[in-house]
Amino acid sequence: MPDRQRMFLAFWPDAAVRKDLVDIQSAMHFRRGRMVHPLDLHITLVFLGMVDTGQAPCVEAAAGGQAANAFDLTIDHTGYWPRPRVAWCGPAEVPRPLQTLVDGLQRDLRTCGFEPEARTYRPHVTLARDARGGATGPLASPVVWPCHRFVLASSSGAREPPRYEVVREWPLRPHKMMPTDS
Ligand code: ATP
Ligand code: MG
Repeated sequence: MPDRQRMFLAFWPDAAVRKDLVDIQSAMHFRRGRMVHPLDLHITLVFLGMVDTGQAPCVEAAAGGQAANAFDLTIDHTGYWPRPRVAWCGPAEVPRPLQTLVDGLQRDLRTCGFEPEARTYRPHVTLARDARGGATGPLASPVVWPCHRFVLASSSGAREPPRYEVVREWPLRPHKMMPTDS
């Protein structure tokens, strides 16, 4: 293992959600752009940047110490950020358990030497870079992404995809069962 690796915490889709995301990507009909490889599709929770081998146990303890609940994320629209020229899809609203998870990670990662992100958290799946001409807006068929685990991923910077590798994963707390009347 290298002394330092570029890393981030993320939600990684299972095969069914990945297929739905690829369908959204195809339906945007970009005129041009670099499509994100299916195996690289993800939602970043916290970008860490370079992580030293010595910091890894602290990062893993911070990730493993979260007590956030599992939840469903509804991917219901696509959009385009002109400055980074990124086309994406994401949820219109940030569910409370998602914000709780991101806040908890940012807080606990401070002790490992990572400063919290100052910008508002905007969950999204990057679909294409240097993209032009894609149709954006609400999705006719939103995708429900069951979020019950999150991962630590490394970013290789390799030219050839897949560019990311899942290193470890942690479960979220299972949905609470509602008591039934009987
Ligand atoms: P490249 O930077 O080589 O074009 P990339 O952005 O896909 O490719 P990374 O920069 O390693 O790869 O980023 C990994 C993940 O972290 C991506 O989801 C990216 O959007 C996110 N990310 C990268 N930098 C930041 C940052 N400064 N703040 C928040 N998220 C970031
Ligand atoms: Mg980048």
